[in-house]
Amino acid sequence: MNQIAYLDNAATTQVDPEVLETMIPYMKECYGNPSSTYALGRDSRSAIESARKQVAEILGVKATSIYFTSGGTESNNTAIAASVNDLGCTHIITSPIEHHAVLHTVKHYAKNSKISYSFVRLNAAGDVDLDDLERQLVEYAKNGHKCLVSLMHANNEIGVMLEIESVGTIARRYGAIFHSDCVQTIGHYPINLINFGVHFASASAHKFHGPKGTGILYVSDGTKFGALLHGGGQERKKRAGTENVHGIIGFAKALKLSMENFLYDHSYIKSLNKRMRIGLKEIAKEITFNHSETSLYTVLSANFQSGSNTDLMLSLLDSKGIYASGGSACSSTEDEGSHVISALNRNLPGATIRFSFSKMTSVEDIDFAIESIKGILTPTNHALSI
Ligand code: PLP
Repeated sequence: MNQIAYLDNAATTQVDPEVLETMIPYMKECYGNPSSTYALGRDSRSAIESARKQVAEILGVKATSIYFTSGGTESNNTAIAASVNDLGCTHIITSPIEHHAVLHTVKHYAKNSKISYSFVRLNAAGDVDLDDLERQLVEYAKNGHKCLVSLMHANNEIGVMLEIESVGTIARRYGAIFHSDCVQTIGHYPINLINFGVHFASASAHKFHGPKGTGILYVSDGTKFGALLHGGGQERKKRAGTENVHGIIGFAKALKLSMENFLYDHSYIKSLNKRMRIGLKEIAKEITFNHSETSLYTVLSANFQSGSNTDLMLSLLDSKGIYASGGSACSSTEDEGSHVISALNRNLPGATIRFSFSKMTSVEDIDFAIESIKGILTPTNHALSI
């Protein structure tokens, strides 16, 4: 088989074999419907509740605050819908670099109901201007609005991280609801959601070696909200539909493993990120990075300057077995470039490529990728050789 290097772990990760092993019995032997009252069903129910307890303990919250969903998209949609429909929010403060699961949902509500939205000011690196956030909260409260603040904990394309505890404090000071898309951080950092001051937080198992199609929505104690999906009474009547039992088991196991091995994995992945940065700098002198000391350690966004474009470079990388992306995997189905890079005015000439790493990335993967990229760059080290 030809060598490949999978460097797109912010899009999704390979399921950890230990996670898979924990899930299999819930498809083979313990396959009862958790709503069935006989023993086979009760076993599934009890497995879900143990998983919920385990997830809650790891995130420092009550088990009753955790709702299992189909992933980050559903969790983000539910949090925004609940804020508008059930919690009386009439204005949403968000940022132009949120994932589309937030941005498109906000725009949907702004179009279809009497909801307005505004973007908080960002600096060139994508950091949220906290003074501007506070100014907006004061202004909208003065005009009689209850605000929802929806800001992601870490950006999936460039890795910029939010000062989440400060945002939580500011939002609560002005009576706003605070939702954070934590899809790129839960499972990647030890997190205590109480300290964040969030009312809602979203996470997704496939970003940390769990199965696809399973996520959580954290809802803080006392935050009343209605269902997005209607039907049966699952998830305490907040999320109808037969539970994805094996997915839920996989979520809890993946989260447990990620936190047990955090110190080792974190420093290993950081070292891969650094190796990639140094290696790329050596072969492409003009390269620039959308990266700072405080940004998400799993992501490296690089701009290869003149002579190329993102799509062309991605296809050349693909032909060499290097799997990376131009931005969010979800936006690759939309006919536009990265909305994150555009919002930050970073549309530099050339190609912007996101490399992202995990504990399953090897040093050989990095070296193979650097060697292959060298092969597709011209001798001037900045234009693609085609
Ligand atoms: N939010 C962020 C920051 C993401 O990176 C993603 C996945 O790409 C999502 C939300 C959507 O999550 P899911 O794929 O679980 O629906």
